[in-house]
Amino acid sequence: MGSSTFCSVIVVGAGISGISAAKLLAENGVDDFVILEASDRIGGRIRKEDFGGVSVELGAGWIQGVGGKESNPVWELAQKSALRTCFSDYSNARYNIYDQSGKIFPSGLAAESYDKAVDSAIQKLRYQEEILSGHSTMSEPPPAPKTPIDLAIDFILHDFEMAEVEPISTYTEFGEQEFLVADERGYEFLLYKMAESFLFTSEGKILDSRLKLNKVVRELQHSRNGVTVKTEDGCVYEANYIILSVSVGVLQSDLISFRPPLPVWKKEAIEKCDVIVYTKIFLKFPYKFWPCGPGTEFFIYAHERRGYFTFWQHMENAYPGSNILVVTLTNEESKRVEAQTDEETLKEAMGVLRDMFGSDIPDASKILVPRWWNNRFQRGSYSNYPIVSTHQDFANIRAPVGPVFFTGEHTSERFNGYVHGGYLSGIDTSKALLEEMRKEKERQMESELESQTFLLEPLLALTGSLTLTQPDAVSGIHKWDVPRQLFLSGKLVIPEAIK
Ligand SMILES: Cc1cc2nc3c(=O)[nH]c(=O)nc-3n(C[C@H](O)[C@H](O)[C@H](O)COP(=O)(O)OP(=O)(O)OC[C@H]3O[C@@H](n4cnc5c(N)ncnc54)[C@H](O)[C@@H]3O)c2cc1C
Repeated sequence: MGSSTFCSVIVVGAGISGISAAKLLAENGVDDFVILEASDRIGGRIRKEDFGGVSVELGAGWIQGVGGKESNPVWELAQKSALRTCFSDYSNARYNIYDQSGKIFPSGLAAESYDKAVDSAIQKLRYQEEILSGHSTMSEPPPAPKTPIDLAIDFILHDFEMAEVEPISTYTEFGEQEFLVADERGYEFLLYKMAESFLFTSEGKILDSRLKLNKVVRELQHSRNGVTVKTEDGCVYEANYIILSVSVGVLQSDLISFRPPLPVWKKEAIEKCDVIVYTKIFLKFPYKFWPCGPGTEFFIYAHERRGYFTFWQHMENAYPGSNILVVTLTNEESKRVEAQTDEETLKEAMGVLRDMFGSDIPDASKILVPRWWNNRFQRGSYSNYPIVSTHQDFANIRAPVGPVFFTGEHTSERFNGYVHGGYLSGIDTSKALLEEMRKEKERQMESELESQTFLLEPLLALTGSLTLTQPDAVSGIHKWDVPRQLFLSGKLVIPEAIK
């Protein structure tokens, strides 16, 4: 067994929620915390990598929810750091749908198919709600899409837009606009800026010993008295409280064992939440062979297999001249490509591109396939609650279990799945913990007071005439100092017999 360290609060995870939680603690005078991060860097699902001469975002890429009645706090952070971003205009994507022979579907047909898909999504939602409420008026759910174009649009609607189907707080509150981060410093620069304000940094590096990288938490013991955490490398950390910011996918896995096990209501809330796998595959080419004018950034490939290399983006707006394409896969398709070699994935992607742009196009010189599902510190990309989730589900996933506080994007009722959800959840959780710490301090003071009175009872019996006034009782002196104080004040006369 290695070293043991004691502190007030342990924060597990240095993604945006863990960092925003620790920052708020520090701002409120709670400096004796440690942040235990499993990987060798901060950022979690915000992660850049150099690819083909530019910086690409493997995880979160967009700041969604801009230009509305309320300001998105992540957008504010980006503005302060002068993060370079590009406005994303998806409106043309549905008119850039290619069939397998490289022809673009006529815009009328695409619009018709899109309207049909929106109608069907709304009907499906109503059907599910009715089934759950037990008052079904619809006898059957709407028919599933069958043709390649209908399947492609269904994929875009459900795996991408969603906002068209149900109101999503991010868009209704923060605004409809979305901006792609295209900055060499990466989206993660926002986390470094936050960290700089409360951790010791030098020349852009975090040197604060309270941030501990490569510390994989494997066991968490908890009781009313606090927590003990064991890491994979045999270190032990003890604290009064813990903030757990690991993803819901990690909570669903067996990476961390809880002793005692989490209560049933908590386990059920964790299991109820779905995890979406979202994979952006980057391809670098020697030159461009795709259209690059206005309205061409996003394009769609229609195939009879739903989600098969459907959604494409060129990076000419983000990084002109980079000759990079991005294709996004989700869920089962993501898991499938994660399990195969990158060469196989490249072959499939090239087959699709040759369908769309002809057999003469060059092979990609490089491919990058992130593996969020097989990353044991992530187990997926982001949370997705079933449409019929209740307030109680969110309350349960957020609720502390004794000294164990939960945070992360999945605990945000309004903004789960997003960077701003993670950021705001960290703040909310720390506020709740600070409140708990304040109450605990009050409880301790009350019990100290009680024990002072209790300690004085035998003395009162001995001295008989001694009366303890209220100001004496609450003067803040430590309980074992009371007799000494009374003695010095002349109120306590030691009887002869016990001299
Ligand atoms: C591919 C992809 C695309 C996305 N696109 C967008 C987007 O465009 N816009 C948007 O707003 N959001 C997007 N998101 C979602 C967004 O990235 C997340 O919602 C947000 O970053 C989550 O932050 P978090 O702090 O809750 O969790 P995380 O960032 O996952 O932080 C948790 C941390 O805990 C660490 N950890 C896990 N287990 C342990 C352990 N046992 N011991 C110690 N440490 C541990 C992890 O290493 C990680 O650093 C995307 C995510 C992905 C993966």
